[in-house]
Amino acid sequence: MSPDRPPRGERWEDLLWQKHHYNDRTALKSGSYLRAYCPHCDASLIRGGMIRLESTTLGGQDGWVELSPYLNVFERRSDIRIPEGEELADLRCWHCHRSLRVEGLACGLGDDRVASVLVGVSSVRVPFYFCLARGCGWHRLDPEDVQRIILDDSQEW
Ligand SMILES: [Zn+2]
Ligand SMILES: [Zn+2]
Repeated sequence: MSPDRPPRGERWEDLLWQKHHYNDRTALKSGSYLRAYCPHCDASLIRGGMIRLESTTLGGQDGWVELSPYLNVFERRSDIRIPEGEELADLRCWHCHRSLRVEGLACGLGDDRVASVLVGVSSVRVPFYFCLARGCGWHRLDPEDVQRIILDDSQEW
């Protein structure tokens, strides 16, 4: 477990590391920069230092959101006013405009909609799942995938 574990409320480590008993393994540190790519067209989703995504609200309004590419940094910008806790209907790639929503996977904190992008720190890219509700910090990386990213980034390996 990392000694500089974030306080409760930043729940990524609570969900991933405590639940899965992989505490003996190396974890990605909070603040790690994750390159983000579209799973459909492979294009980088980074624009202006943020992960940019096209969005649609439940009311059908189109706009965009930008998310921090740093793990556990929940900075979020949007051109649409979205009430805290309200889910977006959809997020799309700003290159190919295809949906990033994942059917059949729900947020671990009770929301209905989850999206996924590919992330990596070097050449390996793995799915990163996150919740579409505003203010919900739920996201998930498969522990096996985290190990692939870390090994890929390791100089010694
Ligand atoms: Zn795309
Ligand atoms: Zn959620």
